[in-house]
Amino acid sequence: MKKITAEILAIGDELLYGQTLDTNSHWISGKLTEAGIRVIRRTTVGDNETDILHAFAQAEQRADAVLITGGLGPTSDDLTKPCLAKYFNCEIKIHEEALAEITAFFEKRGRAMTETNRQQAALPVCCEKITNAIGTAPGMWFERNGKVFVSMPGVPHEMKKMMEDAVLPKIREKFKPPVIVHRIIRTAGIGESFLADKIAEWEKQLPPHIRLAYLPGLGEVKLRLTASGEDEAILHEHLQKQIDLLRPLISEYIYALSDDPLEKAIGNLLREKKLTLAIAESCTGGYVSHLITSVPGSSDYFMGSMIPYAYEIKMRQLGVKPETLEKYGAVSEPTIIEMANIVRAKFSTDIGVATSGIAGPGGATPEKPVGLVWIAYSDKYKTVTKKLQLGTDRLLNIKLASTALLNLIRQNLP
Ligand code: AMP
Ligand code: MG
Repeated sequence: MKKITAEILAIGDELLYGQTLDTNSHWISGKLTEAGIRVIRRTTVGDNETDILHAFAQAEQRADAVLITGGLGPTSDDLTKPCLAKYFNCEIKIHEEALAEITAFFEKRGRAMTETNRQQAALPVCCEKITNAIGTAPGMWFERNGKVFVSMPGVPHEMKKMMEDAVLPKIREKFKPPVIVHRIIRTAGIGESFLADKIAEWEKQLPPHIRLAYLPGLGEVKLRLTASGEDEAILHEHLQKQIDLLRPLISEYIYALSDDPLEKAIGNLLREKKLTLAIAESCTGGYVSHLITSVPGSSDYFMGSMIPYAYEIKMRQLGVKPETLEKYGAVSEPTIIEMANIVRAKFSTDIGVATSGIAGPGGATPEKPVGLVWIAYSDKYKTVTKKLQLGTDRLLNIKLASTALLNLIRQNLP
């Protein structure tokens, strides 16, 4: 099947100066990918005629469709429209329908229309106008030698509406791109390269229409399978077959066969098993509780947490024995075991978990370096601990320790 390719061209000095983040290209990429179009390049150029024309010529050679945003304002710094007229070699004239739309736009808002606004209705005669339902700059659709150039406003919400209402349907109709289906498999507790080794043979036998991507995150790796073809139902079947082959190879690491995060997967397990959870988190400062409570319906299984950050609070409020703290310190296995057991008892839950560590960058001692974190899990059958040696970045350590704790819960639920 022929691949349909696209290039995205973002135009505007503000993008090059670092004043505006090019969110348009990111968003358009996602939409085109979903629609089965292969985005092969993204380019950014300033408001400069030579650069714009050069970018047009290069993009036309590479891609079937060129999607342009920006440079459509009514002011003289915006050059996209005159550049397109020059590139496609046609003159610019008032487009009556566009003029009626712009006039109606100002009337509806009770605002006066200036000559500059009127000029926004002037379009290259060789393009097809695309209505801008929520702004004044119309979009433009050009075709030449089977290739398409689309110009859209830079203002993100105007671009998005135009893309969804008009541009994507027109692109689908013109190019009839293949159907694309994705599946996500989320894993935790194994690094990317170890994972790749475990599934190497499986990866080799994937058929050509199914591609695999590794998407590593903080303490976890997502696998994305993408199938392309003509029939959506058949593609879903093919993907399911591959996932069934993959599962037994890495079953202990897989926590979701969807894009659900770890905290959601754990929430589902806790609810299913009718178990309740309490947390004593020291070095993570509430981050684990935040993740758990970000999931709607978490009150079904989450009873609460405590942040016994200071030594005295670990003793007085939580109830860790002073001897334990004095003998082993707050960041130690005996302390973390007590923390998890006590919080479980105090909150009368099935599961108690805890974190204690040196998030950094300060606070290290010769025996306890920055990034040392103890986590623990406790239920009525067992108490499990894990020692982590993380890095020196405080926020990263908090996030990694939190993911590790969530994974510890997942692995140990009765
Ligand atoms: P323009 O069409 O050049 O008049 O752009 C109008 C406004 O849209 C600019 O002032 C930017 O704030 C915004 N904008 C332009 N291009 C982008 C882009 N690629 N991503 C996000 N915002 C943009
Ligand atoms: Mg601009």
